[in-house]
Amino acid sequence: MLLRVIILIIIAGAIYRFFGGKIPFIDKKEEKETDVEKDFGKQIQGTSECAFCGIYMTEDDALIYHRKAYCSNDCVEKSKRLKR
Ligand SMILES: [Zn+2]
Repeated sequence: MLLRVIILIIIAGAIYRFFGGKIPFIDKKEEKETDVEKDFGKQIQGTSECAFCGIYMTEDDALIYHRKAYCSNDCVEKSKRLKR
């Protein structure tokens, strides 16, 4: 009996979410995590441009240094030197 109730709640929740509903105590946690990532992830989503030499690479290849994407350690080092 208890299992049926749990399954019913899960199904109801899935339908509710499917139609765009939000479950506060579950979604709050997720929102906080995505909010942090939003800022950080915007410029490194999909393909990103190297902040030093301008080469495009996939976000998997990008090196993130001070919230900027670089194609290689070389470019990170070079941009460090330029700032001084
Ligand atoms: Zn580069």
